[in-house]
Amino acid sequence: MKLMMFETDRVTHLGVVDGETVIDLAACNGTLPQTLHELVAGGPEGLGIVARAADGAPDEVRRPLDKVTPALPLPRPGKFICVGLNYALHAKEGGHDIPEYPSLFVRWPTSLVAAGAPVTLPRASEQLDYEGELTIVIGKRGRHIAEADALSHVFGYTIFNDVSVRAYQRKTSQWTAGKNFDGTGPLGPVVVTQDDLPPGASGLRITTRVNGETRQDSNTSDMIFPPARIIAILSEIMTLEPGDIIATGTPSGVAHAMDPPGWMKAGDEVEVEIEGIGVLRNPVAAET
Ligand code: MG
Repeated sequence: MKLMMFETDRVTHLGVVDGETVIDLAACNGTLPQTLHELVAGGPEGLGIVARAADGAPDEVRRPLDKVTPALPLPRPGKFICVGLNYALHAKEGGHDIPEYPSLFVRWPTSLVAAGAPVTLPRASEQLDYEGELTIVIGKRGRHIAEADALSHVFGYTIFNDVSVRAYQRKTSQWTAGKNFDGTGPLGPVVVTQDDLPPGASGLRITTRVNGETRQDSNTSDMIFPPARIIAILSEIMTLEPGDIIATGTPSGVAHAMDPPGWMKAGDEVEVEIEGIGVLRNPVAAET
């Protein structure tokens, strides 16, 4: 099932994407979950209830997909954890060794933006880079999760563009500053439940385009630490909870590795596409 949050009349609704339409669950039945977070936190039976409501939904509760405004699928995740250097070629292009343990950093919600909303080119730097990433949404609480059991903790997968301000990322040995500028974290628009994708979302083509030009073109099977391993590693440290988000790292082809660097500029359009999930598309606009 493909789920999304969308905005209509300044109210956000939970919807099920069906072809070129999105089924407005609030219009189907007022007792259904109103947000994706509510659905994820409500446990596995919620998905069955939503699937039954969406099945055969009448035309009056369907909105044309190209007419709705996407909202952030999970606007205030309890945790937003990012894995860095998870594709060998990307580690190499940045001058790093192949890691034996994943680089971990975090995002705050103020850096996130919905699909279609502008990515902000900050006043502070012109070094604005894209990073297309497969992203895990946790569905079941757990600590000390075995790798063999890890995928049972996944609700689904979405797309993240880990837009990075490289000049700030490289000011210090840790990356918090360069990864948390306002308006630099496009997320969504859809979350695909794990049962609609291969185990661990492996074997999916992942591409990033700037103004239609392909900059990144790889496959999720090229990860050094695949989703199950990441979940096992993180849960050794912390309790993972429903609605937590884990971005799994980006392939090679980022702007800072180009000669000259292919930074994004105001007026550009950046797209991340993952096979079986969809396209995350955003314009770039200068900070006002
Ligand atoms: Mg990244």
